[in-house]
Amino acid sequence: MDVPAFVCRALEVLQKDGHQAWLVGGSLRDFWLGLKPKDWDIATSAPTQRVMALFDRAVPSGLAFGTVTVLLEGRPLEITTFRREKSYTSRRKPAEIEFGVSLEEDLSRRDFTVNALAYDPIKKQWVDPYRVIPGLAAKKLEIKAVGNAGERFEEDPLRMLRAFYLMSRAGAAGAEILWDAATLKAITAGRHRILRVSGERIRDELTKILLGPNPDECLNKMQEAGLLEVVLPEVSRNKGVFQGNRYYRLEVFAHILQTVRIIKPVPALRWAALLHDIGKYACRVEEGEAVHFYGHETLSTFLTRDVLKRLRFSNEFQDRVLRLITHHMFSYPATDAGVRRFLRRVGPDLMEDLLELRRADILATSAEASTAELDRFRRRLVEIQNQKPAFGLKDLAVNGYDIMEHLGIGPGPLVGRALHYLLERVLEDPSLNNREALLAEVKKWGSGTARPGAGAEEKQKGRVLRDPTP
Ligand code: ATP
Ligand code: MG
Repeated sequence: MDVPAFVCRALEVLQKDGHQAWLVGGSLRDFWLGLKPKDWDIATSAPTQRVMALFDRAVPSGLAFGTVTVLLEGRPLEITTFRREKSYTSRRKPAEIEFGVSLEEDLSRRDFTVNALAYDPIKKQWVDPYRVIPGLAAKKLEIKAVGNAGERFEEDPLRMLRAFYLMSRAGAAGAEILWDAATLKAITAGRHRILRVSGERIRDELTKILLGPNPDECLNKMQEAGLLEVVLPEVSRNKGVFQGNRYYRLEVFAHILQTVRIIKPVPALRWAALLHDIGKYACRVEEGEAVHFYGHETLSTFLTRDVLKRLRFSNEFQDRVLRLITHHMFSYPATDAGVRRFLRRVGPDLMEDLLELRRADILATSAEASTAELDRFRRRLVEIQNQKPAFGLKDLAVNGYDIMEHLGIGPGPLVGRALHYLLERVLEDPSLNNREALLAEVKKWGSGTARPGAGAEEKQKGRVLRDPTP
């Protein structure tokens, strides 16, 4: 096993000072699965004060849990003192932590058997108390809690969600997933306890699952286990809601999962895909053979706001996902002016992600779906963006002072109205975006001779041809 030199150095420093020091955790599981380890965790018998003293750059990142983060060669490394939880308050945090226990005891407090491995790269020695290495090496990952599953999930209900993250790692490795029956049963029985876990912790674990290669499988299994219904009822509720003829089309839930799988693995995109259609369950109407979900993007946006708040996403992240969902039913405008207005409405910064959401949405709808029309639209967008048209008031060739001077008015709401009017005109006809033409336009507008409701006609022409997604 290839362990970076800085990790070995840290182990050596601890061992030379007379302590036990082992690599532990997910990196060892990942190694046996043939995956590149994401991070390295060290467990040691040295007390935290000693760890702090042994390394120049050490931060007490989780002292209550015995964790010190050490910076070596500019890279962070978590070093945790062997510990055991004596009892839990059956809330988030262990009531009492006991240090000075053995490696075996430290491994026994870990969540799953595949995460309870230790390795010493200096002595090349493995510790595998639950005999999981042979299975992992044969590309089989058993999801089995250490000890009594029910008790372990009661101690820390987040572990229930981490079980599905293990599915994600197995998926990344192309390994077979084997569920320990008692572990799965304990999740179903204790699923409501996940509500005790903070939004942040749930958010981070769910995001890890979403970013993996098989989020659809993980979410499907969470649904089967009943956990999804508690964690994300808004998504779960779309199970069994059929999109159309029930024999030929996906149900909404399956469509959502496919969309998540297909879209690029970027947090905002995966979350937007997961939530883009969640309002459909309440918007379904049958019209003859056809099924419609009129206005579902509005309800989806409304429900998504709740989900993202509950999971404590940053305002910036919420804003981005909400905008994607609000606009996801956009239609391809027929005219160039329509395209420019679309760009203005959605915002150029969101465009690429919105097209990616549409691509995944189309491909997740049916096997025969084609993205040809989307690709044509993408090319038109690029062409029009390359012409660098004005999208906002600041892109206009005149500003508020010009307007005031030209119309002989003082500051006030009229100035803003004039600028918005000019922007409308320029979106229709970019050749107007020069000082002379705009001042002539605003003069007409000021004297009331401007075309009434200019823009309405083009808006009509640019209207959607048909809804591109069901
Ligand atoms: P990742 O791929 O995200 O690094 P990981 O399984 O390594 O996944 P970490 O958060 O890095 O997860 O935790 C490191 C190790 O600590 C785990 O492998 C496991 O042994 C232990 N661990 C983490 N969270 C828990 C928990 N909630 N309960 C018990 N043990 C845990
Ligand atoms: Mg890890």
